[in-house]
Amino acid sequence: MAQTNLHLPVIQNWDCHNCGGCCREHLIEITAEEKRRIERQNWTAADGISMARPVIQKIGRNRFRLAHQDDGACVFLDERGLCRIHAKHGEPSKPLACKVYPYAVHPAGPQKLAVSLRFSCPSVVQNLGPSVASQTAAIGHLSCEIVAGKHRDHAPPIIHDSQPHGVQQATWPDFHRFLKTLDGCVADDSVVLVVRLMRILAWLELVEQSQFQTIRGAKLEDYLSLVTNAATQAQPDNDLPIHQPNRMARVMFRLIAAQYARHDTETLVRGGVITRLALLSAALRFTTGIGRIPSLNESASVSRVFGSADDTDGVHPIGGVRFSDLEMPYGGRRSDIDDLLTRYYRVKIQGLHFCGPAQFETSLLDGFRGLALMYPIIMWLARLRAARRGAEAVNLADVQASLATADHNYGYSPALGTRSALRRVTLLSRMKQLTSLLSWYSQ
Ligand code: SF4
Repeated sequence: MAQTNLHLPVIQNWDCHNCGGCCREHLIEITAEEKRRIERQNWTAADGISMARPVIQKIGRNRFRLAHQDDGACVFLDERGLCRIHAKHGEPSKPLACKVYPYAVHPAGPQKLAVSLRFSCPSVVQNLGPSVASQTAAIGHLSCEIVAGKHRDHAPPIIHDSQPHGVQQATWPDFHRFLKTLDGCVADDSVVLVVRLMRILAWLELVEQSQFQTIRGAKLEDYLSLVTNAATQAQPDNDLPIHQPNRMARVMFRLIAAQYARHDTETLVRGGVITRLALLSAALRFTTGIGRIPSLNESASVSRVFGSADDTDGVHPIGGVRFSDLEMPYGGRRSDIDDLLTRYYRVKIQGLHFCGPAQFETSLLDGFRGLALMYPIIMWLARLRAARRGAEAVNLADVQASLATADHNYGYSPALGTRSALRRVTLLSRMKQLTSLLSWYSQ
């Protein structure tokens, strides 16, 4: 393919610290070619592989994934937490999905790709390792493998599709002007993060009233600067009015938060009817919001790295807390928490990881509303961890663990990409409840 231009996040570090999390928490789908390659590697019990079940599972017509061990770990993960394919045949022999994680690449223009990272990796959350920008050559190599043979020039995600103007589409250079403005608004640390997000939500409402057939290039830059100033004046400082979200918003929010808290491993998939009934019962309790919050399985690697959310070792259930316990202030507006979440938002914006193909083909505006909703979701999950250990305030580890848990599903859980799930976000915005959720759970 022709030389691909990479847009790398400028504020993120990463390298792998072998926590083994991705080899336990992710179900790795492989291509037919990767299946043939692994079969040719001829794995036997002498390699430490259990022969109790095949190393590759069929999951549909011409669809396959790596099998898992009884404890949920990938069939190729050894007792030291290392990959057997990597050890025996070298890194290039691993499935592409394993090589790419935690990177995610998205079309960003003609022969251009934007690189983002998945915060389900604890090393990404903690910003460990060398800067991503210094790893251009390695990421470029991976990106070529990802787009090999299927590179085509994508149109940018639409800006919005709202009445009375209908679908608003920009060119790639103009689309990047929108991204640059969003990134600048998130980076403005003269006010706390929740205020910056509120300003952007006001900004989106103004943009939604405009059409962009004639507002292009330098004119668009002037327009974006005017809209940013207007949104800043609407919320000039940290003195944020706090409104409790209304009842319907709280029901929708709990249902969305429950989806983000889910951690579907191979062990759960194997659970069958009993597991499905338990999930149904949990969904009912999330709808009513009465009584105790059902147990939610936090990933073992998240618990290992950030501390268990529960005293019970092994299965790490989070529970035993009443829904009402989470509706009081938990000291969420702190600079260390803001710094972490600011980096998260900027990586998602710079990596085009919140709209278009990365987010169920949503528009720039709807995609950002969904991304803004991650703030109260992460803070709600952090409150749950704090409440579980009897603390009256969240700490950084609570937020780090909750970010890793929620981002595992962000853009990847099919349940969050259904029409009804996407519509919930739109409805929360139309009911002016997104801002209430942000302010309420920021406290
Ligand atoms: S989750 Fe991240 S740090 Fe852990 S093994 Fe995977 S890539 Fe490495």
